[in-house]
Amino acid sequence: MPTYLLRLIGRVVILTIGSVGIARAALDPTEQVIAQRAADGQSAAEALLARAVDIESPTENLAGVRAVGEVFAGELRAIGFRTRWVDLPPDMQRAGHLVAEIDGKHGRRLLLLGHLDTVLAGERFRREGDRGYGTGASDMKGGIVVMLQALKALHAAGALADRRITVMLTGDEEDAGLPFAVSRAAMVELAGRSDAALSFETSIDGTATIGRRGFSSWTLETTGETGHSSGIFGEGSGSGAVYEAARILAAFQAEFGAEKYLTLNPSLIVGGTKATLDDYRGTAEGKTNVIAPVAFARGDLRYISLEQERSVKARMQAIVARHLPRTGATLRFDDGAYPPMTPTAGNEELLKVLDGASRDLGLGPVAALDPGRRGAGDIGFIAHLLPCLDGLGSGGGDNSHAPGEYTGLDTLTPMAQRAALLIHRLSR
Ligand SMILES: [Zn+2]
Repeated sequence: MPTYLLRLIGRVVILTIGSVGIARAALDPTEQVIAQRAADGQSAAEALLARAVDIESPTENLAGVRAVGEVFAGELRAIGFRTRWVDLPPDMQRAGHLVAEIDGKHGRRLLLLGHLDTVLAGERFRREGDRGYGTGASDMKGGIVVMLQALKALHAAGALADRRITVMLTGDEEDAGLPFAVSRAAMVELAGRSDAALSFETSIDGTATIGRRGFSSWTLETTGETGHSSGIFGEGSGSGAVYEAARILAAFQAEFGAEKYLTLNPSLIVGGTKATLDDYRGTAEGKTNVIAPVAFARGDLRYISLEQERSVKARMQAIVARHLPRTGATLRFDDGAYPPMTPTAGNEELLKVLDGASRDLGLGPVAALDPGRRGAGDIGFIAHLLPCLDGLGSGGGDNSHAPGEYTGLDTLTPMAQRAALLIHRLSR
């Protein structure tokens, strides 16, 4: 918070200087109109955020997700977008996605991303000073509101005419439907006919996101000979399943503990005479004088690129295969691995355009966020297909996925101005 306050004070100072000429001189007349229209949209943006937050839309509430999608669809239609709903198979139990498009011939084809669903539910919108509280206020109804405030400003300035912009608001970002090949098919298809993707997840202190880690989950099962505890370490009994599991986990830490952008977390372990593991829950029993014949461990793995994912998975399997005497082990990776957004030159070029727009607006520089500070997101599904930038949404908030979630209402206008200018400079 102190860093953010300092930055805010810095911004006010820069804006004051900017208003007497320095920053404004960097904007051409159309861009000045765009910035002004975005600022004019502040109270409508706050009202829209309140309306969206008050419609509960946790991923599993399909009617709620569609209802909040309908609110945003109406806003998009009002500025000339055609909207449609992408349905998913009923047995997937997901609400589907909203897609909105305008066609033209000018500039780069842009895909703008957001998500309609939230993790939690139940906190209505309330305002306290510059903070807007409520479920999804920050992640990411605030981000969609920023996107709309930017698009409305562009529309009012005549800067959407003849542009090629697609908006996709997914209904299941927080718990994507399986298989991903089906739930993310429309997104991949839209990315295939776009030149760049911009995602409006929460913005973090003067940064944007050019890399996000992907993750997958794994389960380790080890086996050993059971028998009297006095026989352990001996030729006849071997080392038992618990030592084999401990060997493997210690080797994971030794081999991967210092690898950049990689984390590997064992979250749960059980072992003994009997042991069961079922997703998040395990049971075990065993007497102290008996060698354990079975053990399970489960955890996740986070990586910055598909190459790192492949390499680490192969090295994990190699570690697993070096068994202790008279033990066995298998390592299984779950289906549904989340792909990473790997930093690329194309992503950096988008960041450079955003950074230039932000400086020209007098809003200060925008740096790349450390990929270690952000979890996986929807943009990972298309990041290998086109240049991408994320973290363009509202900022100054906290408590995403937790009670007391809020966003900084005073960030709506600066973030919308920044995003509008970015879209304008990419699409003109
Ligand atoms: Zn989100």
